[in-house]
Amino acid sequence: MMLVSQLIDTRVMKGSSLYALRNVSGKGKGLVAIEDIPKGTRILSEQPLITTPERQRTNEWLKKHISQQVDTLNEHQRQLFLSMHNLYPYQSVADKYLGIFRTNGLPVEANGVGGGIFLEACRINHACDNNAQKHWNQYIKRHTVHALRDIAKGEEITIYYLGLDSSRTIRQKKLLDKFGFLCSCRLCSLPTNQSQETDKRLNRIDQLDDLIGRDCRGWSFSLRTLGYADERVRLCNEGPGNSGMARTYLDATQIAIANGDLARGRIFAERAVEVWRTAYGSDSEEVVKYSSLARNPAELPLYGLSMEWKTSSDDVPQDLDPNDFEDWLWRRQKPKKRAQLEQFANLRNRAIFPSFAALPRSKSDLDWYEEVDGTYQALRHWCFLGEIANSITLHHLELELTDIDDKKVPLHFYTEGLGKEMAPARIQKGYTVAVRHGKRSVFMYGDPGIRHEDPEMLKVGTSNPYCEPSLVY
Ligand SMILES: [Zn+2]
Repeated sequence: MMLVSQLIDTRVMKGSSLYALRNVSGKGKGLVAIEDIPKGTRILSEQPLITTPERQRTNEWLKKHISQQVDTLNEHQRQLFLSMHNLYPYQSVADKYLGIFRTNGLPVEANGVGGGIFLEACRINHACDNNAQKHWNQYIKRHTVHALRDIAKGEEITIYYLGLDSSRTIRQKKLLDKFGFLCSCRLCSLPTNQSQETDKRLNRIDQLDDLIGRDCRGWSFSLRTLGYADERVRLCNEGPGNSGMARTYLDATQIAIANGDLARGRIFAERAVEVWRTAYGSDSEEVVKYSSLARNPAELPLYGLSMEWKTSSDDVPQDLDPNDFEDWLWRRQKPKKRAQLEQFANLRNRAIFPSFAALPRSKSDLDWYEEVDGTYQALRHWCFLGEIANSITLHHLELELTDIDDKKVPLHFYTEGLGKEMAPARIQKGYTVAVRHGKRSVFMYGDPGIRHEDPEMLKVGTSNPYCEPSLVY
């Protein structure tokens, strides 16, 4: 006689080439990938074998309803059903059926049906950092499971039994109460300090969901609300627990469109669709419905509530790097420091602020000057910047500067006053000197440097001129 477990193995193996029912350490049986499964793959698609109605009924009614369905199963199906785990005590066969249903049933939301037994999907174990997503597909009336990430051959396929992600204590309590096991998944087995970090993140996600929900319900589609959605997506991307990600993109879609911003609305809708496509498949209601919204974001009834952020649907910048694109998309307010750094980066532009080594040697350098009626005129503007490292006055004032390449550059004052025009308080170590149209010169003694003749062409900044460009000229 064939053992039930062997029967199941054969059944599952025959049903798909992607997984098999195998023993899983500490969990009994589970579905294990028998080949590499790429992210987004539909691992299974299954009709329910036994169903219960959506509306609450008495236990007696349910027992009768389930027993009637079990009686119609063939022997093979019945054995598979009976081999499923039962957490509930029972005194009769009907009790046992109900217990099996309660332990293993998955939600079904179709035509008044509330739950179902699936011979294969119900065999998938839980993990809090699940690699697959279960879903009832209303369009095809089947339960589907998709790979949320690449699953390697030999890895167990896991789904998340609970609703939204929550902290370890809450998850473990719910799993123990509802499913009768203490979860020992990777996430639940983290050392305390790491687990606390994850919990902090998950709690903040919870809190953000509340804040977004509160704002959207109150028709407040503000920049603040978009900021919450932005933070939630970033937290989701930081680690395990990404349920609700598509929903957050959809919230962002609404916020953008309610403000007349069709460009961002379209992108957010496209992102929601991509998350759902991976988790639910292209034939799911969510993908079909929101793909249509992504194609025509102005369809959303909220469109035009305000036109404060008005854009057209294709008003999307094309030349931004990925980080800047995200800043644009989420309308991130740049902190002051960041703005300064960017200015710094601009001012570091080597064409405008060359290092000493890149300066022209003389006015006859035609890369830098052109001859107009016998005089040389600069072809463009540039400015040499150096930080004062030292100063000395012998025949004239000489400053030792450090340039952008960290090279020492002597600056000799050949002005009328030979440097005496400079207030001593300006000659401070760490101050920055800007020499407009500086050139490289050689001197009778010492290293090549800059010969400074026209007081108009030099300024000394008491603070970093990179941050205060007004000091430069
Ligand atoms: Zn867990």
